[in-house]
Amino acid sequence: MSSIAKKASGISPSSTLAIDAKFKSMKAQGLDVVGFGAGEPDFDTPQHIKDAAIEAIKQGKTKYTPASGTLELKQAICRKFKRDNGLDYEPANIVVSNGAKHSLVNIFMAICNPGDEVIIPAPYWVSYPEMVKIADGVPVFLPTKEENDFKFSIEDLKAVITPKTRAIIINSPSNPTGMVYDEEELREIAQVAVEHDIYVVSDEIYEHLTYEGKPVSIATFGDAIKDLTIVVNGVSKTYAMTGWRIGYTASNVALAKVMSNVQSHATSNPNTIAQAAAVAALDGPTETVEMMRNAFLERRNYMVDRINRMDGVSCLCPHGAFYVLMNISKLIGKEIAGCYIGGSDDFANAFLEKANVAVVPGSGFGADSYVRWSYATSMESIKEGLDRLEKFLAM
Ligand code: PMP
Ligand code: GLU
Repeated sequence: MSSIAKKASGISPSSTLAIDAKFKSMKAQGLDVVGFGAGEPDFDTPQHIKDAAIEAIKQGKTKYTPASGTLELKQAICRKFKRDNGLDYEPANIVVSNGAKHSLVNIFMAICNPGDEVIIPAPYWVSYPEMVKIADGVPVFLPTKEENDFKFSIEDLKAVITPKTRAIIINSPSNPTGMVYDEEELREIAQVAVEHDIYVVSDEIYEHLTYEGKPVSIATFGDAIKDLTIVVNGVSKTYAMTGWRIGYTASNVALAKVMSNVQSHATSNPNTIAQAAAVAALDGPTETVEMMRNAFLERRNYMVDRINRMDGVSCLCPHGAFYVLMNISKLIGKEIAGCYIGGSDDFANAFLEKANVAVVPGSGFGADSYVRWSYATSMESIKEGLDRLEKFLAM
């Protein structure tokens, strides 16, 4: 048999998507399973966005577009940056891709030479290290602690910078911790990035899902940091459009060109119909976004309160995104329902097998003493999932 390339065989599968697929297949088999896996809003895509896609099909907008996206969408994205972040970008700064996940892969392809280091604060979103590895970069983890709200200090950051450091990833609000950096913290990070001439990959995909205050983009602190920042955003989370696959970046023009070139060979343009829908999403009314945010807030409060009233588990109150990272460290080394809990994988497997509840083990996020719950699901499912947790912990 021909061998498989070393690089590809070193890439782990996405644990969030794996759990989601397992949950969906158990459900399809008729099992009474409750899922808290992939972070995917349970709301439908708003009607005006769907209508824009239907209209695009009717108008024959069904052909290739420029590889980096249509001018209409890039202009809508520039308006969004001005309106929401006070940032001035031109269409030449924007690259539209097949989801923010694709945008991130483009970024690491564009900035990493073999062996270049990318700093990833941990706990991190599961895909970051694998994306860096795909681009021949080296992930360098910057551990954070729950008692510090999962935030690193500037001294911690400086300590991991080497001559090979190319970039740092800032994901605020964070998946999986829900942590949000405040303006002062971001200003300090920006200063270090400028001093050391390192890129900041600022993943702002959860920017509209904050529950206490409005997040700030690190790109707003002056021309030097704006030039070094690659802002990543998309329509998946804010507009319940996960399946439409539209994400985008704003960066300096030279980087945008390179990312567009890479993309032109890999995938050509993002789906033309979805691009038309994304224009309607970005330019459209914000009531549905507000409605979803309020629903997530209510669910967050309920989940955090109940988890912290149970013995053996606890969590911080997340300030953004739609995840709760539940601390299971008190259960490690113990048995639940006859299953030994050596870490988050054991916990997630036992919880799924014995209680039919799917949560994501923290192992894939660099947080093996935790499991992640998504609260982008109905209140009814949340209540049921937590009832089952209570029973499971008593087994
Ligand atoms: N960044 C983070 C932090 C995420 O949680 C996700 C989840 N899907 C993405 C990027 C990618 O989103 P998408 O590809 O659906 O735009
Ligand atoms: N980003 C979401 C999550 O973390 C969706 C799944 C994925 O893209 O990995 O669950």
